[in-house]
Amino acid sequence: MQDYIIRAVAKNEPVRITAVTTTGVVEEAHIRHKTSPIAAAALGRTLTAALMLATEIKGKDILTVRIMGDGPLGAIVASAGGNGTVRGYVQNPEFDLPPNEKGKLPVGAAVGKGTLHVSKDLGLKYPFVGSSELVTGEISEDITYYLYKSEQIPSAVSLGVLVGPDGHIRSAGGVMVQIMGDVDEVTEKRLIKQFESMEAVSSLIDRGYKPEDLVKELDFEFEILANYPVAFQCQCTKERVEKALISLGVEEIEDIMAKEGQAEASCHFCGENYIFGKDELGKLLVEMSNT
Ligand SMILES: [Zn+2]
Repeated sequence: MQDYIIRAVAKNEPVRITAVTTTGVVEEAHIRHKTSPIAAAALGRTLTAALMLATEIKGKDILTVRIMGDGPLGAIVASAGGNGTVRGYVQNPEFDLPPNEKGKLPVGAAVGKGTLHVSKDLGLKYPFVGSSELVTGEISEDITYYLYKSEQIPSAVSLGVLVGPDGHIRSAGGVMVQIMGDVDEVTEKRLIKQFESMEAVSSLIDRGYKPEDLVKELDFEFEILANYPVAFQCQCTKERVEKALISLGVEEIEDIMAKEGQAEASCHFCGENYIFGKDELGKLLVEMSNT
């Protein structure tokens, strides 16, 4: 089933809700990066968060979430466009930890302590960059804290990835509720109570919930503002990788040609492998010496 995202506002309150299914997105990331279950959970939550935060930017603009923890998973990066595409990676995708006694993957322990950065490239001279400390490393709480601390938006964020016994992704998605203005205390308490009593978002999606159904878990009348498909999609091309090769310089390329006979370069974000044969490298060297 195609993953998609919904952004809605409450009709009578300044409350915004975003809900997304990302089962296919996280499975694609799992296949591309050969993630362990805990790496899939951490990367999947980050990809899901980036897609939800990117609903406020325009189609061609890019929002990137970087989780820089000191835990064994290393850095986690997810970059989403306002058009519903997302790509990302985790530094050590093979690292694994068994579920804890509650049957949950200890994502916080694998991520560790550190900082979360969000940058928004809106086509201006400089990107917008905001940061906050990691609170638990479980990603949901870290994004919630970031939104409050850096953007002054009181929010509640729930992200979930359910990994099957075969390592494949059974379900993934997220819900984010944000208070965009003044709400009375009673409404706020009602909202928090409903959000906290929600079942885990990955279990709901595993049971067949769609983004609309997730929105309905909250007892508010919502008006849907946007609804569009989301997918794991990279922007890398052989031309871009070629530019990176050129930046190595003539000597380095000649050295690679002599030692390896070809050059191999893979994209961090999607794991795509690009191979440049001897002829291609030769042509590159000619081009480089002509400029
Ligand atoms: Zn790529």
